[in-house]
Amino acid sequence: MCGIVGFTGRHQAAPILLDGLSKLEYRGYDSAGIAVRDGEKDIEIIKAKGRLKVLLEKTNAGESVPGMCGIGHTRWATHGEPSEVNAHPHVSDNGNVAAVHNGIIENYHAISVQFGFEGLATSETDTEVAAALINKLYEGDPKEALRKAVAEIEGSFAFCVLFKDHPGEIYAVRNVSPMVATYCDDGAFIASDLTAFIAYNKRYFIVPEYHILTM
Ligand code: GLU
Repeated sequence: MCGIVGFTGRHQAAPILLDGLSKLEYRGYDSAGIAVRDGEKDIEIIKAKGRLKVLLEKTNAGESVPGMCGIGHTRWATHGEPSEVNAHPHVSDNGNVAAVHNGIIENYHAISVQFGFEGLATSETDTEVAAALINKLYEGDPKEALRKAVAEIEGSFAFCVLFKDHPGEIYAVRNVSPMVATYCDDGAFIASDLTAFIAYNKRYFIVPEYHILTM
């Protein structure tokens, strides 16, 4: 298991992401990371091995990472040791796609061979292959890229994805792995579990399997 959180809206994202991740601690984790977008600027990624406390310290509780859109992850390693490099979010080599993932991509090796990603990986994770795949299939429409990517992927997944070309937006899709979301005056929230954003809104919906959500 692991935890995913995403927020885009009227507040600074990093403190909300870190608070949400702290609520998902019960799911277990060995490392954590966030990707935050400040307007049109590049996506900023901060990761840390170990307890969430380390990431909190590294980001001054999120204050050193400005931006009102972001995704966060607490990892429970299935592919590759717990380390900062293997921690999520994972980014495509051109920096266009940043993704967090809960689950296991059973056919990640086959995808890597088929799409020519072998030897390009910086981490040992199945998730990095997914980020590369989404980027490879991206032709300007994030939903289309995700639709095509999940058609190639076998296994369980919940993905939250940022696209460089689409500031302020979070894209999500899942199969088996849990993901709930809500829209309210503060903005849009998505998470593995309602506990991550219940302080903002008690109403939520379960993201339907294979539905591509835009927030
Ligand atoms: N399979 C992914 C990894 O090892 C995600 C694991 C998780 O759900 O935390 O990084």
